[in-house]
Amino acid sequence: MKIGRVQLFPVATPRTTGIANQHLIVKIEAASGEIGWGEMSDLSHVPMYQFDIAELERMLNELLRGKDGRNIAKIEDDLIRFYPDEGHMYSRTGLVRQGIDLALHDLNARAAGVPVYHLLGGKLRDKMRVCYPIFRMRSIEEVPGNLQRVDEMLAKGFDLIRVYVGANIEADEAFLGEFTDRFGGRVEIKSLDFSNLLDWRRSIMAIERYQELCDFMLVESAAPRNDIEGLSQFRRRCKRPISEHVLHIHHGWQLLSAGAVDILNVSPYLLGGLRASLRLVALAESARASVLIGTTQELNLGTAAVAHLAAAARVLDYPGDNTGPYLYTADVVKTPLEYVNSHLIVPDGPGLGVEVDEAKLSEMTAGAGWTFGTDLAGVLDRTPANRPSARQ
Ligand code: MG
Ligand code: MG
Repeated sequence: MKIGRVQLFPVATPRTTGIANQHLIVKIEAASGEIGWGEMSDLSHVPMYQFDIAELERMLNELLRGKDGRNIAKIEDDLIRFYPDEGHMYSRTGLVRQGIDLALHDLNARAAGVPVYHLLGGKLRDKMRVCYPIFRMRSIEEVPGNLQRVDEMLAKGFDLIRVYVGANIEADEAFLGEFTDRFGGRVEIKSLDFSNLLDWRRSIMAIERYQELCDFMLVESAAPRNDIEGLSQFRRRCKRPISEHVLHIHHGWQLLSAGAVDILNVSPYLLGGLRASLRLVALAESARASVLIGTTQELNLGTAAVAHLAAAARVLDYPGDNTGPYLYTADVVKTPLEYVNSHLIVPDGPGLGVEVDEAKLSEMTAGAGWTFGTDLAGVLDRTPANRPSARQ
């Protein structure tokens, strides 16, 4: 199956929390007419520059046109040379490889009339428990709104959250204490996520205060970026399991061999798609470590890929973070993925299992505001410009 053409479609979609994110939808057309869809998810992160979309599209056509779309291994091997690992959380090269990897899996699975998990070797589970995010609080005034949000999501069936902490310990304490009073026994906390904000000693001091107030499954990113030694120090002193985002396969090995983590946070958006993610699952298995699937907040195409990864992963022992379809107010698919009681259901249709609505896609592409905001704290914290802490 020769690749005929690659097309990239920019879309922007607001979140229910008020900020908007940009994504690129990827369409790969085989010379024989079959089509596969993928996505480069959530480009609205630092570093604050964007793709030259026309140039990227031209290069991808240059690299892929005429190649055998069934040989994903070979295409991945080529792409990793031209889009190498960048070693940070918002690697644009990882997103490029994710977009192509997803679209090729969709293309091949559709051509065969099977779900993508068949191409990954089969299915071990039908669903994955997921949590939704409570974003970082920089002021105590942000606490009531976030508690309200827990209430609203509980009404929609979500009984699991993760909480971004570390910017304002008093606000965190107010939230966590009141959370336990109001929702204890009804809603669980998957993780307290420091997102590399504090050094390990400050994270220890904070976690000792938080654990008096609430129960939680694990702690994430409790030392500065790339501080593997600091993370190991934290892990030795913390009774809960520690997880960290894996940036590339060698980073996964570094985290495990240094004894810095119990759990690898594996994400197709960061690692470059499904194949790269499955390699990290195998690495975790080799170290008898755990795996959870992280997120940048994908649209339905990207979240569907995560569902197939969850279906096929040999190790997956913590809930994931993938609730993009609930967080965004619009999408390019005809029918969104199904969530039941805080679980993402693995779709059984052909390919990734979601259908792109091309009319909706062109409408969204025409209306895509393709810029970064000037709200720097909002870009970092994923909070809207009208948050209380922004009124200084
Ligand atoms: Mg995180
Ligand atoms: Mg993101």
